[in-house]
Amino acid sequence: IGASGGDEKPRILLMGLRRSGKSSIQKVVFHKVSPNETLFLESTNKIVKDDVSNSSFVRFQIWDLPGHIDFFDPTFDSENIFGGCGALIFVIDAQDDYMEALVRLHSTVERAHKINPNIKFEIFIHKVDGLLDDHKIETQRDIHQRACDDLEDAGLEKVSLSFHLTSIYDHSIFEAFSKVVQKLIPQLPILENLLNILISNSGIEKAFLFDVVSKIYIATDSSPVDMQCYELCCDMIDVVIDISCIYGIRDDGAFDSQSAAIIKLNTNTVLYLREVNKYLALVCILREDNYEKQGLIDYNFQCFRKSIQEVFEVQQNSAAGNSNDVLM
Ligand code: GDP
Repeated sequence: IGASGGDEKPRILLMGLRRSGKSSIQKVVFHKVSPNETLFLESTNKIVKDDVSNSSFVRFQIWDLPGHIDFFDPTFDSENIFGGCGALIFVIDAQDDYMEALVRLHSTVERAHKINPNIKFEIFIHKVDGLLDDHKIETQRDIHQRACDDLEDAGLEKVSLSFHLTSIYDHSIFEAFSKVVQKLIPQLPILENLLNILISNSGIEKAFLFDVVSKIYIATDSSPVDMQCYELCCDMIDVVIDISCIYGIRDDGAFDSQSAAIIKLNTNTVLYLREVNKYLALVCILREDNYEKQGLIDYNFQCFRKSIQEVFEVQQNSAAGNSNDVLM
């Protein structure tokens, strides 16, 4: 079962040494735990299959593997674990000595690549909130250099690694996860194209298609992503969900097909949120003058939503027609 090319649930593995921050990442991104509460998490010592598929559109699993597991141990079913996985996130604690982590990273990449050459390796240089800016860049450069040198020495220079600087204390962890997930979505170019069409016809500055539960954006238009805009949009989702939880009349979830919200900021900016389907929301930023054409925006949004539904229907139909697919 190749997760990257098929229509089945893409699976993401989260690995790294003990105390590198794996459980914290998982809790903060998928379970709305606040970063400070992670101080008291118990360290992971077993494989945790955290299946977020019920609540999240991005259907993937996180396998939180403790650092000490030996892949060569025959009881560790690495064929199964690496074989079905689309991306492997390896977490390195940047506040700690990372030499041991690099050794672990190398053996993991070597092993995983052999079993599944399609796996994408994503290195999270984590806990960078404790580092000064210069030090962050230097750490990333050093880790990049050493990891790639190790691969080259082993004749694996073709294996590519992606690096992300992350922390659970700001939005960098969500941003990094968004990039990882986007690589696993085969429809990404279509989604980006639809977003480009939407914004250029509606006077919108920036648009994100969000997975509401995790606040990962699964696509955005092609203008560059500004961290502040992304944070604003994330905050808007939180506000909308919180208000719905408090005042909503339905008790089967705070987010449904009628969900929509407009927030006007005193910077002449408007935030516009509309639900796209059960899991996805469109969140846009636009200038207040452009919001005068609200009817046009609403109309364009309806067209956009219809297209998105078609994109995913085609995917579902083709998956149903293929008996080899394992739909989870
Ligand atoms: P695991 O063993 O890999 O699952 O690691 P944990 O998630 O238990 O995290 C170990 C410690 O690192 C905890 O005390 C967390 O609060 C802390 N931690 C996790 N992520 C970050 C981060 O981004 N920045 C900082 N400063 N600490 C973090």
